Amino acid sequence: MHAVGGKILYVDLTTGEMRTEETTPDLVKEYLGGDGLAVKLFTDNMDPSVQPLDASNVLVFAPGLFTGLPVPTGGKCLFLSRSPLTGTIAESVMGGNIGAEFKMAGYDALVITGRSEFPCVLRVWDDVIDIKGGSPYWGMVTRDAQEAIRRDLRVSSVACIGPAGEKLVRYATIDCEDRQCGRAGLGTVMGSKNLKAIAVRGTKDLTIADPEELIRLDLELQNTMENSGAFMDDTKYGTGEFLNWVNEERGVFPTRNWQESVFEDRKEIDPYYWAPRYTLRSKGCFGCTKACGKLFVVQEGKYSGTKLDGIEYETLYSLGGECSNPDIEALARANEVCDLLGIDTISAGVCIGFTMELVERGILSTDDLGMECRFGNPDAVVEMSEMIGRREGFGKLLGEGVMRAASEIGNDVERYAMHVKGMEPPAYDVRGIKGMGLGFMTSPRGACHLRSGVYALNLVGKFWRWDNVDRFAAEGKGEQVKAMEDFMTVYDSLGVCKFSRGFFLIEGYIPFIRAILDEEMSEEEILQVGERVNNLKQLFNYSVGVRREDFYLPRRLTEEPIKDGVAKGAIITEKEMHRMLDDYLDARGWDNDGKPGESKLRELRLA
Ligand code: SF4
Repeated sequence: MHAVGGKILYVDLTTGEMRTEETTPDLVKEYLGGDGLAVKLFTDNMDPSVQPLDASNVLVFAPGLFTGLPVPTGGKCLFLSRSPLTGTIAESVMGGNIGAEFKMAGYDALVITGRSEFPCVLRVWDDVIDIKGGSPYWGMVTRDAQEAIRRDLRVSSVACIGPAGEKLVRYATIDCEDRQCGRAGLGTVMGSKNLKAIAVRGTKDLTIADPEELIRLDLELQNTMENSGAFMDDTKYGTGEFLNWVNEERGVFPTRNWQESVFEDRKEIDPYYWAPRYTLRSKGCFGCTKACGKLFVVQEGKYSGTKLDGIEYETLYSLGGECSNPDIEALARANEVCDLLGIDTISAGVCIGFTMELVERGILSTDDLGMECRFGNPDAVVEMSEMIGRREGFGKLLGEGVMRAASEIGNDVERYAMHVKGMEPPAYDVRGIKGMGLGFMTSPRGACHLRSGVYALNLVGKFWRWDNVDRFAAEGKGEQVKAMEDFMTVYDSLGVCKFSRGFFLIEGYIPFIRAILDEEMSEEEILQVGERVNNLKQLFNYSVGVRREDFYLPRRLTEEPIKDGVAKGAIITEKEMHRMLDDYLDARGWDNDGKPGESKLRELRLA
């Protein structure tokens, strides 16, 4: 079949058994690739009674359908498993070359089960698959491990975990060329399998139904992208380009563990300040000319030598405003520590901000922590990030995630613990973006901005099918979030970056799919793939016990209005929370507890 590697690779790390299955045309049409294919393979092979850190947990790696081909921003891949942080199904998307290499090795997905007796590296070099000893790399930080494995095993691309994944910090990442699968602890799943890295070299060609047409479409869309409004700003300043717009003009930049929504000290963490001073050049994912990544270097002072691909918007919030940290050099160093040790910057920052609030309230003391972990202390952010990643001191408890840490501390501190389904939230104060509040609730992996991406629609007021959307109103959000989730799932199945939202919509995929696969898919059929995948995810979550109350927002968001800025007074009342959830469940065709209905499953060919 055109444009696909052609095979699905299964590896059992307990027995060392490997096998392949053909990627059938029906599978591609029903699930495309990436997220869709990964969810199908996961749910077909996973027993819901298996716990996230059990050897039998299934870990799937899948590049998108477009990955490896000349499609603007279309180079993404993802990992998917049962999350050690949330207990739910969870995926995490990343750039890096490994998705394209894997496709060119001849595969569309990798399904890993079992646990190796010893640290190992799984090498995929075209048709030769072997499990190599990983002990020399165990304990190495991500950058060093990738360099050593690439050199020793003569591969082109390596996705690996750092010491945090080995030590089972619950939100450990998987890193590939300074891009991360950041959320939900999929690096922890790799660590639990004693799998340090997946190392790939692919040398085969991908066939395309109409190569000339694909090149024409690629050039046309490149041109559109390069002339789109956000292109120059994103290329110059990265994903944090809109930080002060969110902060001051919309008033929804969570600060001091969500006690405030405007970061008054934001000057240094705004990319318009730091990008001209600290970045050497732009960096992009596989084949992307938009290159929103920045090579950030600190050349003098206390944090001299800090060097990373960043700093992304979410991290400017989590290790910045969330901890009231106004120092960009300390923030960069904390970001680098997280990347090298392999932990999610969002979860780490929220855990640190939570701790700082407990210190501020006198519930924890600096003696308990062994350090001055207070709001406004930039060095504490660096130090605590290191302690979490190394699972040392108080960092050991914070490495369990904010939900478990709050439960362990007791004293009713759950009211300050920001999470949904156990996952710490990203950088949008949803009291002033109600649709995003619903998006936090309904995301299968917990509080997440990427499953629905509805923040953009609500903050701007128009996108795709909608115009004049009121971000402070609860009405109409159920249908919006449902449709946006299905749309974003298509992005993740094709391997297209969500930063192409401004110029690459569903109707734009149709000619690409035609040129690549020689398949005619309508807009409705493409969107139905997203809906099918989201129903499969919910079926899994329901089977492991996720029920209505697991969708609820943290208490702070329904009890405390925004205190400052242009969104002052905004809140999601409990009544609004329930109303939005009911509207969403109706739009989905799921019952009051989130169980997908039989007629919906039949419509999607899942029953
Ligand atoms: S826009 Fe940025 S995140 Fe998206 S593919 Fe390009 S470099 Fe990667």
